[in-house]
Amino acid sequence: MSDQPTPMMAQYLAIREANPGALLFYRMGDFYEMFFDDAVQAAAALDIALTKRGTHAGQPIPMCGVPVHAAEGYLLTLIRKGFRVAIAEQMEDPAEAKKRGSKSVVARDVVRLVTPGTLTEETLLEARRHNYLAAFARIRDDSALAWVDISTGAFQVMECPLSRLAPELARLAPRELLVPEGADLDDLAVDAGAQLTDLPAGAFDSSAGARRLCALYGVETLDGFGSFGRAELSAMGAIVDYLDMTQKGKLPLMRPPVRERSGGSIQIDAATRRNLELTQALSGGRDGSLLSAIDRTVTAAGGRLLERRISAPSRDLAEIHARQDAVAQLVDNSRLAADLREALGRVPDMDRALSRLALDRGGPRDLAAIRAGLTQGACIAELLEPDAAQLLRDAAQDLTGHDKLIDLLDDALIAEPPLLARDGGFVAPGFDEELDQTRRLRDEGRAVIAGMQGKYAELSGVGSLKIKHNNVLGYFIETTATHAEKMLAPPLNETFIHRQTTANQIRFTTVELSELETRILNARDRALEGEREIFGQLRAAVLAQAGPIGAAARALAEIDLTAGFADIATGESWTRPRIDNSRAFQIEAGRHPVVERALKRKSESFVANDCDLTAGETPAIWLLTGPNMAGKSTFLRQNALIAVLAQAGSFVPASRAHIGMVSQLFSRVGAADDLARGRSTFMVEMVETAAILNQADDHALVILDEIGRGTATWDGLSIAWAVMEHMHAVNRCRALFATHYHEMTALTARLDGVENATVAVREWEGDVIFLHEVRKGAADRSYGVQVARLAGLPAAVVERAREVLDALESGEREGAARPAALIDDLPLFRNAPAASAPAPAGTHAGPLDARLKDVHPDSMTPREALELIYELKSLS
Ligand code: ADP
Repeated sequence: MSDQPTPMMAQYLAIREANPGALLFYRMGDFYEMFFDDAVQAAAALDIALTKRGTHAGQPIPMCGVPVHAAEGYLLTLIRKGFRVAIAEQMEDPAEAKKRGSKSVVARDVVRLVTPGTLTEETLLEARRHNYLAAFARIRDDSALAWVDISTGAFQVMECPLSRLAPELARLAPRELLVPEGADLDDLAVDAGAQLTDLPAGAFDSSAGARRLCALYGVETLDGFGSFGRAELSAMGAIVDYLDMTQKGKLPLMRPPVRERSGGSIQIDAATRRNLELTQALSGGRDGSLLSAIDRTVTAAGGRLLERRISAPSRDLAEIHARQDAVAQLVDNSRLAADLREALGRVPDMDRALSRLALDRGGPRDLAAIRAGLTQGACIAELLEPDAAQLLRDAAQDLTGHDKLIDLLDDALIAEPPLLARDGGFVAPGFDEELDQTRRLRDEGRAVIAGMQGKYAELSGVGSLKIKHNNVLGYFIETTATHAEKMLAPPLNETFIHRQTTANQIRFTTVELSELETRILNARDRALEGEREIFGQLRAAVLAQAGPIGAAARALAEIDLTAGFADIATGESWTRPRIDNSRAFQIEAGRHPVVERALKRKSESFVANDCDLTAGETPAIWLLTGPNMAGKSTFLRQNALIAVLAQAGSFVPASRAHIGMVSQLFSRVGAADDLARGRSTFMVEMVETAAILNQADDHALVILDEIGRGTATWDGLSIAWAVMEHMHAVNRCRALFATHYHEMTALTARLDGVENATVAVREWEGDVIFLHEVRKGAADRSYGVQVARLAGLPAAVVERAREVLDALESGEREGAARPAALIDDLPLFRNAPAASAPAPAGTHAGPLDARLKDVHPDSMTPREALELIYELKSLS
């Protein structure tokens, strides 16, 4: 019956059913094919042709396919578009299946489920970004977040109350978040840019989780790694279970889980990260972010470490000081810094190579990467003097002691091995005698046989004897019948074995020749086999050292980061900040690293500014006023960024800085557009402000930019006012508060420690000139009208705005009660000609206007223009 699926289709449907929720890439020869709805979806997502193949249940089957050799690019597109892909490979040679009968289908099975959080391919990963898979688990009142980067094996876990989940996800930016079914965390995942994957409750079982972890690390108990709570075990267990499922039993290399201390780093929530553009610009990319402006690392692992440090600046004084000491040493010793960077430039990505080897997806080039990394590591360790800063000495320690493995890899591998082990050709000559011999046979087969021909000619006394080859006999010795007689008789017939007699030739073989032949014929296969075996041994030798190699990779990243910080400190004249546990915040001549860089490209210079939020017992709050475009936001952000850089261990863009440890960093911008998430902008602003007022402690640094702007003036002013008072009295945090409500400047008189500052501008012939200088004191006026004019608002509108402003200001001076009343008194808007002075009332529609209407300056000669002026003069 035609409705009966073909055997192949039956196999397809069975595999399809066993792998729900993912597109199925079904391997057929050189293609991965997709059928049915998968094909429809994939064809649309990949913009490839949708065709048909056969029928199922009377309907044509939609089909599309991608070539295997180009599959990675398509996979990446699908993953980016939110798909998961199950890859079903052919598990046997099609010839095997044929042997079982003409109807039998090649065995196929899913070998891997590709999801955003489980990528390992170099081409699918961003070199300088971590690719985290995270899991969130809740058990009664406890909850925990675990995350792993399977491309490097780093595995971490922390206790994480639900209220902390959003900021932690914002920091880690995982690609995929695992949650138990029904967890209802879709919004959070979307906000964090992660794909949400629901797993059945069983995957989150904490006891099963503990068992899985023990099995993974081959230990009886996890106590050696630390003591973990139920929720932590549940989250970690879910990750292991998911990896087992997606990698089909081939678990990646996972370093022992590290518990992250809560409070180890500055708390920075998602909105603050976005606002400050720490690792991503508001426009979405890395360009324009702090990270891209300061990244001087030369290795991918160094770049990833920088991203981690900037995302989570430390709160551990000793740690920060150790990092500063190391940077300072390289700033002082520029020769050493240059040598280190030079050597680091040759360091490949060992972490990722190691992880591919562990997953059995690696090749000879990954072995070579380990060799090169360790070799460079040893050189780098030698560059570091014994009196180097502690952090550098510790790193050097991790870079030594790998000689045995380096020697092994050096002996075993050629200089530049190919990507895949499959094709051989990577084992160095001289490493394995048998392999060398096999290869000699393969490569020099003819020469070996030519050598034997001479030997047999001598032995038999038949000078014309030849060794030949054909497909039926393989290799044979041939001579004419007359000469053959000797060879057919004793004692030579013991050596020469008769094979065939033709019309005038007789053919022989010898034990030696047939042995040699078998060896030649098998040589290629055997050479490949031998190389594969050696690859296996080398892989095992590397994996046995996975721990120390990982430590070496971390040490290299740390040195790279230190040298990168030193490089920017030297190149941009940054200074070492003094950091302690006080609540000081004193910055002299601070700069905004990203804005400064952008200005430099336009050959403009950045105006450095001081900031001092240290006011004895009460930390100070600066209230910053000044016209739009003066540089308020830049000033606010630069101070926050300086704190981030300082606690990340870097020097800072300032001439002097003293920072008391910042515990939390908050940054809010009034009425930020958030239409994408469909919330009222004002509501968002208030929710975010509430979060600050509820959370900020006395070591927090808060930056508020135009809070309250999203509502009517008096509402906005009142809210801004109350927020300021609350921060001052309750949170007692250090804060910078930019506002255009000049009324607030009066607060400074009433609140101890609140000071006015303004970004100076100069007025010149009715225009404003931005000086970008922050000074103590309140702005005398806002210059909004002038700025509007600079922005190209029609002159008539600018003129009218000036009138309204004058009326409002004089009304205010005279104590008028309501602006509305003033507005009523204003003369009506008239569309006055922009350039000329307003004409006296009643004359603006006269003959002069009528004449001017007909004038077309573009088509006039100078002479006509002059005549026109005389004419107009006579009309007035
Ligand atoms: P505001 O928040 O007051 O509207 P911004 O901080 O957005 O102003 O700054 C407006 C522009 O002024 C910036 O894009 C930058 O080009 C320039 N600018 C700001 N601060 C400085 C400075 N300190 N030195 C030089 N140019 C600056």
